[in-house]
Formats: sequence, structure tokens, C-alpha cells
Amino acid sequence: MLSLPDSPVPVTTTSPVPSIRRAPIENLLLASLSDEDRARLLGDAPPIDLRLAETLSESGDRIHHVYFPIDSFISLITPGVDRAQLEIGLVGNEGMLGVPLLLGIHVSPLRALVQGTGHAWRIDASHFMRLIESHATIRNALNRYLYVFLAQLMQTATCTRYHLVEARLARWLLMTRDRAHSNQFHVTHEFLAYMLGVRRVGVTSAASALQRRKLIRYQRGDIAVLDVSGLEKAACPCYAIDKKIYGRVLGKRRASRHAAGRESKATRLAGEIGAAISC
Ligand SMILES: [Zn+2]
Repeated sequence: MLSLPDSPVPVTTTSPVPSIRRAPIENLLLASLSDEDRARLLGDAPPIDLRLAETLSESGDRIHHVYFPIDSFISLITPGVDRAQLEIGLVGNEGMLGVPLLLGIHVSPLRALVQGTGHAWRIDASHFMRLIESHATIRNALNRYLYVFLAQLMQTATCTRYHLVEARLARWLLMTRDRAHSNQFHVTHEFLAYMLGVRRVGVTSAASALQRRKLIRYQRGDIAVLDVSGLEKAACPCYAIDKKIYGRVLGKRRASRHAAGRESKATRLAGEIGAAISC
């Protein structure tokens, strides 16, 4: 576990933190399904609680459950030894954990670690497999997310190779903010190191630079986003690219459901939330 020093730049503790528009939170993928398909997936089971730093699967584990985060979020980390690990994706209420099942693969290639405490729908993997094999509407909807997920992984490969640490940190803080639905959240030291794939000095330097620009307040892992548009300008283009792809592939699906007049309560909810996630 890395340990970071106290905030290396003096901060004004009274710096205002802008409030974020809060919409009722639901998983957007489930909200894009018809009420019937959603009921088939979820049944009567209530959401479960996900705890901070809980490991949901290790690389090579058999997948027993599929998770649809509601107000929690999950970090996806490549397998490796010690520092040779990298976070390559975040799953919040825009997505799901368990995409290998959509390809008929029952083994997780990545470590899945809870980074944001909250609720999630959890579905038994065998039940999930039966449904996607027998219901094309569910399978097709979730396959669109699979495309978005793969695009995010590809973008992260480019990001890690070509973009500067400070800009990458800004990107990941914005992604975390979106999934935390708040301008204030906690990121563990371990998470920052996985996120950026750099040593402690690199993390400290990047966070200090963003703080000097008054874009964030950072102290012992507690992050406050002070200037959202400024942080967006500081981020590498990957943040905007990810959002654009999501909006193009999944946003239109929601829009088409509106146009077809088959809008469900869940879909209306997704439309309200979508503005905060999609372009
Ligand atoms: Zn980037």
C-alpha cells in the first residue's frame, strides 16, 4: 500500500465545493430494457450493498454473479505482481460487471475491486446466461454495452501510452465523479497508483498541480472537485471520447425507446440521468 503525504499544497478549507445535480439513481443499462425484460433479470431480489475495497472477483476466477451498480462503482484492474498492475476501467451505474458472459466465457480476466460504496443489483450467472440465450432483446441491449466497454479499454491503452500523468489524473477523477454522483469522494492511495500506473512521487506531483490550479482539493485521499469545467479542460481527450461513444451507442437507444412510445418508468428515469453521463 502506498502512503501519500498530507496535501502538499496549502488549501483553504472553506473553498466552496460546487453541488452536483442529483437525479434519482438507477442502473442505466437496466433502465434501457423494457419493464418485462428488467423483471426477468432481477426477479424479486433486492439490491445488495457493496463495501469499499471489497474484491468481487480475481483474475482467473469463475464468474458467479453479474453486478449492475446503482450508486456504487467498481474498479477493473489487470493481473500482475506488486506495482505491475493497472486500472483499465471503471464500472458505475452506466454499466455492468460480468461482460465475459456475453461472449459465453465464464472466467474473469480482471480483478474487480469496489471503489465506491453503495448498492448494486446482483444476478446469478447461470440465470443471466439462460436469459441472454433465450431473450434476444436483453442480449442485444447488453451487447451494445460490451462495445462501449471494449472501446473504453482501447482508449485507456492509448491514454496510458501517450498522455501526461496530470491530464490522465484529471480524466480519472472526472470518471470517478460521474460514478460517485458527487463532487466529493474518497480515492484510496492504492487506487491512485493503479489508476495512473506511476510511483508515489508521480501521483503526488499530478495531484499537487491540479490543486495549485484550484481545480481540486486533495487531502489524504479525500477529493473535492472545485471547478468541473476547469478539470474537463485539464483532462486528456479520452474523457470526452468515452462519453461521446457512450452517448452514440447507448444514448440513442434510450432516445429511440422514447420515440417509439414504449417508454417505461425506468426509461424515463434513464433519460433524466443520461444528461449527467452521456453527451
Ligand atoms: Zn487519455
